Amino acid sequence: MKDIFSLLFLIVSFNLFAQDYSVNLDYYLPTDVSYHKDIPTPKSIIGHEVGEWHISHDKLAQYMFALANASNRVTIEDRGNTFEGRPLLLLTITSPTNHNNIDQLRKEHVSLTEAGAGKSVDNMPVVVYQGFSIHGNEASGSNAALAVAYYLAAAQGPKIDDLLKNTIILFDPSYNPDGLQRFAYWANIHKNKNINPDPNDREYNEIWPGGRTNHYWFDMNRDWLPAQLPESQARVKTFHQWYPNILTDHHEMGTNATFFFQPGIPSRTHPLTPTKNQELTGDIAEFHANAFNKIGSLYYSKENFDDFYYGKGSTFPDINGGIGILFEQASSRGHAQESDNGILTFPFAIRNQFTAALSTLEAAVSLRTQLLEYQQQFYKDSQKEASVGGAIVFGDEKDANKVFHLAEILKRHQIEFYELKEDFSKNGKTFRKGYSYVIPKNQKQHRLINAMFEKRTTFKDSLFYDISAWTFSLAFNMDCSENESTNKKGAVVSELKKPTIITPKTSNYAYLMEWHDYNTPKALNKLLNKGLNVKVGLKPFSVENKKYDYGTILIPVQNQNLSQTELSEFINTVAKESNVTITSVSTGLTEGIDLGSSNFKKLEAQKVALIVGQGITPYDAGEIWHLLDQRYDIQVTKLDTRTFNRVDLSRYTDIILPNSWGNALDKEAAEKIKTWVKNGGTLIGYKNAGKWFANNDLLNVKFKTKKDSAQNISFEQKRNYFGAQVIGGAIFETKLDRSHPIAFGFKNNTLPVFRNSTLFMETDKNSYNNPILYTEDPLLGGYISQKNLEELKNTAMFKVGGLGSGNVIYFTDNTNFRAFWYGTNKLLMNAIFFGEEM
Ligand SMILES: [Zn+2]
Repeated sequence: MKDIFSLLFLIVSFNLFAQDYSVNLDYYLPTDVSYHKDIPTPKSIIGHEVGEWHISHDKLAQYMFALANASNRVTIEDRGNTFEGRPLLLLTITSPTNHNNIDQLRKEHVSLTEAGAGKSVDNMPVVVYQGFSIHGNEASGSNAALAVAYYLAAAQGPKIDDLLKNTIILFDPSYNPDGLQRFAYWANIHKNKNINPDPNDREYNEIWPGGRTNHYWFDMNRDWLPAQLPESQARVKTFHQWYPNILTDHHEMGTNATFFFQPGIPSRTHPLTPTKNQELTGDIAEFHANAFNKIGSLYYSKENFDDFYYGKGSTFPDINGGIGILFEQASSRGHAQESDNGILTFPFAIRNQFTAALSTLEAAVSLRTQLLEYQQQFYKDSQKEASVGGAIVFGDEKDANKVFHLAEILKRHQIEFYELKEDFSKNGKTFRKGYSYVIPKNQKQHRLINAMFEKRTTFKDSLFYDISAWTFSLAFNMDCSENESTNKKGAVVSELKKPTIITPKTSNYAYLMEWHDYNTPKALNKLLNKGLNVKVGLKPFSVENKKYDYGTILIPVQNQNLSQTELSEFINTVAKESNVTITSVSTGLTEGIDLGSSNFKKLEAQKVALIVGQGITPYDAGEIWHLLDQRYDIQVTKLDTRTFNRVDLSRYTDIILPNSWGNALDKEAAEKIKTWVKNGGTLIGYKNAGKWFANNDLLNVKFKTKKDSAQNISFEQKRNYFGAQVIGGAIFETKLDRSHPIAFGFKNNTLPVFRNSTLFMETDKNSYNNPILYTEDPLLGGYISQKNLEELKNTAMFKVGGLGSGNVIYFTDNTNFRAFWYGTNKLLMNAIFFGEEM
């Protein structure tokens, strides 16, 4: 009996200790209003309470459509697809009266940004863009979106009526559908019936690459300005359709934190952002503080995060007349987790996000006229600054596709630009009509243009949350003349068209393709995969009145597996699909190397493998995957570090090792790779891979080692001292040896390079082995400490070494940064296609 009693006691007490973390919808909602019974609750559609499970994107979409269907306050649109085919939804939430007049309201609102606007804003609604969980594994945002949308559609009474009359809400329930789906799957498959907050549980420890990123492992909260990803393109389009007064970005941070809302660190605000912007951010913050005081949640502001890089969602609006606001909630990751602040439950995290979403709207209504007037003033001031006039001309006489891709970005941001009226030369650069565009500075987007093209090298603060420079002309390695007269402009570019190419006529001798155009690797890959005999010219030459630079691709007509006619047709198809110019020639006799010269080297079809998985930086790997797969249609095999030692490498010609931390690959893997290189493989590594190459005798890489100790630095200053030695991301000039195959396709002798590491590689003792060197005065834009700048001068960015019949190639820096660093993408392509010639 006694045993049974103690057993019973044990069960009862266990149940007492096994905490019930479940909540119902009332937990989130304000109690001072009633809710319309015809509006479906989230549970009635998705089958569970908000916060009980992690919402998958499918179910989130299902609920948003149901709301739009049931409520005359809500409309929904599908703005396109993610890479994985999920819809990019946008709800417009406002009063039914506003909905009836929505196009007119939008036009009136946008007119505040137009020249000469002097409108009364007294009766205009304020526009708020609310977006959630751009990092898919920061899921409390998108889960809160369910409750926020329900509240906005279902709440009854004068308060909500007033809100909806005075506000147009652009509601983006999931900034990152693919990441959210990936993360929901992870959190849900590991959920225990008896929720276990032990941080060691697998539920709280995602596997690589995690749900933070999109399909190609991009951090999409860096893409608002470059707008290279479909998700960003959809919301940037909405942004410029509406010019919201407030845009919010709901994130999560470490589990032991509390809740953060902006302002961020004041000294790190971008100088192009008006002071008034930060003042209004501070005014809005008071509404968050009051709301959090009411529910008893801890919070802070101003102590970290910043408003410097305009590619972040909470900073992008600041250069567009709006106020961007970052929210960061401590993350429960899964359903509940132990933290310094007690057990942090998922519903608690969701409720904080819900609270911040509502306090944003409350602030928007209260500060409505101030926000609208600020916006109007922003563009008035901008116009005043713009009246200085002048124009930026950019172009590349050898690379129309690269020019097109920069022009695409301008279009996405509604920047006005023109064709070049006629060719001209300046400072040794030729700007050709059809290969150049003119951006007049006197236009509405004057400040945004400054933010995209300026080269800033002095800063108030020496710490940056993200990159300190992103100058687009440098990122694209674009010839650029910044103070031109506007009379250089030709016709306005109203509809941007792909560059026109000249398709070759049938040749009985050979076809030639210069290597400069951005799209040439796509064409070359197609030619090689067809099994054609294709060669690369190691030296420049001229034939039939045209000059051909280093790296020109030659396709002879004789001895191919296609007839003369078939070859002509195929080459035409390749030219069209890749949008590149290929020229037919009728003679092999040139000025310089003749087409039969041994200075033309036969190229092979490439089979590329990319090492991914635990230990590899997902961003860097994803950028390479995206570049090969999306831009160049080059098939790439992703080899996981977990299974690498079991893989037969002999089927690959190239293996790319992206930046890694720790030991992504072990000794056994190193031996395996060494054997493969000796048998003729080309190994290509980035950043930290250089250390691994050196440690495993794959390549003789030597880094400068700094001896450094702090002088006159107090404990309090310690963090800032070390922070100032970080190169968060800046742009540096390198000098090219254009005759080296790594530099084929670059027409200039210098190349701007993005760098966010402090790896300073010593040069090779033979000068011909140093084709890419940082210059004597390398800083082009961004922040670097004086000490690091001294270290960087004249160091090498690239190294290649032979090993058996193969080659090992190494870059100290990322050549594929965030999909918008078009200027250095060709370096990787040269390593892949011409690695054997180095
Ligand atoms: Zn985040």
